Amino acid sequence: MSTTVNLEPTIFIIFGGTGDLNQRKLAPALYNLFLDGYMPEQYCIIGTGRTPLTDDQFREKLKEGINNFSRTGKVKDAKWADFSQHIFYQASDVKDAETYKQFGKKIEEKNKEWKTVANVIYYLAVAPNFFPIIASNISKAKLAEDTKKTRIVIEKPFGHDLQTSKDLNQLLSGIFNECQIYRIDHYLGKETVQNIMAFRFANSILEPLWNRNYIEHVQISVTEQLGVEDRGGYYDGAGAMRDMIQNHLLQLLCLVAMESPVSFSADEVRNRKVDVLHAMRKFTGEDVRNSAVRGQYGPGWMQGKQVPGYREEQEVDTQSNTETFAAIKFFVDNWRWQGVPFYLRTGKRMHQSSSVITIQFKDVPHLVFPPEAAESWQQNRLIISIQPEMSVRLQVQAKRPGLDMVLNNVDMVFDYKGTYTNQAPEAYETLLLDTMLGDQTLFMRGDQVEAAWELIMPILNAWESKKSLNFPNYSADSWGPEIAEALIARDGYHWFTLPVNGKK
Ligand code: NAP
Repeated sequence: MSTTVNLEPTIFIIFGGTGDLNQRKLAPALYNLFLDGYMPEQYCIIGTGRTPLTDDQFREKLKEGINNFSRTGKVKDAKWADFSQHIFYQASDVKDAETYKQFGKKIEEKNKEWKTVANVIYYLAVAPNFFPIIASNISKAKLAEDTKKTRIVIEKPFGHDLQTSKDLNQLLSGIFNECQIYRIDHYLGKETVQNIMAFRFANSILEPLWNRNYIEHVQISVTEQLGVEDRGGYYDGAGAMRDMIQNHLLQLLCLVAMESPVSFSADEVRNRKVDVLHAMRKFTGEDVRNSAVRGQYGPGWMQGKQVPGYREEQEVDTQSNTETFAAIKFFVDNWRWQGVPFYLRTGKRMHQSSSVITIQFKDVPHLVFPPEAAESWQQNRLIISIQPEMSVRLQVQAKRPGLDMVLNNVDMVFDYKGTYTNQAPEAYETLLLDTMLGDQTLFMRGDQVEAAWELIMPILNAWESKKSLNFPNYSADSWGPEIAEALIARDGYHWFTLPVNGKK
């Protein structure tokens, strides 16, 4: 969340350099930072993996990734020639102590060449089972001694449950200070997500309304049209709760529900967010049955194409009990939010891909208009759309032009694309820049991650101990299982969907 830029010499060591994340996200993000003038004068990117590659072969691999996935399109030859000179590759196994000796040598070489002590960022873009071994080996090789100059970036998932996240936190905190640990939740780097804080805390008109007196309920819905694609092996051991709710959706909830921080400093912001997680009502006994719903997609058709059911996906157990959909009703037990339900929903193979937060305000206390004027009456809603549309829309009632008094819903819209002409940076650009700057505001602190796990453990435990008998229970291209509609309908509401192309 940089406001000023003062970049020190930096060495990136990317574990998992040959992997998908680096090709699709990290390399394009670093390249775009370079294009926009946000790379330090002295920097290098060292990728590692077991695949034997020369520096040039590795550069070509990243170029291909950038050409395919960068928001700025294909690389520009002159720019690439410059940027690629900073990229190196070391073929090695993360389990091997020699790997780290080699890194030590490279760091020393660069420091000599640059006549400085560079910041070193260890980026762990590898499977989570490697996180402990890499961190321990970095420590054994004494590559993290300088707490001001070394940082470690951990990709999600951070732990598989509360205990494993605690274990990982404990291991990391034995090697690094908290200020060196950057736990990524890429959602927090998205422009529209960062705008939630700006919208809430830079506008005085919202605060008086932002509480139980005016807000009836909140919905946070993150839906995807995609199935598990080639991530079946990982996903079958995770599911929607671990993959989406524990991190992305709870972080969005925190941004909506948090108190105003005293300042924009990383710990002030993160303190206010963790307060929300602590205030959230824990599930006990019957709560899971009453307030949490799970689903798994069956086969069907998406946009004219036949698609397999979850249990027919590659590397997925044919009897899998893993949920690909989850909907939960949470409460935040504090003065601001007492009694206001927060409905969270996420799922794969859904009718629409969208991430939307809807704040529904309470109804007017007395309707002064004749019933026929208010046939299409709707309570005020504030809709924060993160993707695909990047917008904030306030839905209000207005008089339809004409001689009769007829009320209509209209939208007051702030649309990123219509308002700004410059392209928004990708989340990973923001997060990588912040890592270089040493700004942890948009990263998860250890206690935050644990508090989020603590909250969802009763649901996970209940679901894992009792196999769902009706899986698969929703078809592709739907809005999830019927029980999810029932969860919210019991309270007199329904799930809102994003207006398509601005139309309701
Ligand atoms: P991936 O494509 O399977 O890449 C795994 C990487 O690990 C490869 O570069 C592989 O290199 C390396 N590797 C495996 N075993 C190794 C060993 N013993 N020594 C050295 N390197 C080894 O995985 P990914 O999709 O990039 O995901 C990486 C991490 O990011 C995971 O934790 C994932 O959950 C997380 N993540 C990924 C995405 C995404 O969009 N892909 C999004 C969010 C989070 P070699 O094959 O050359 O050894």
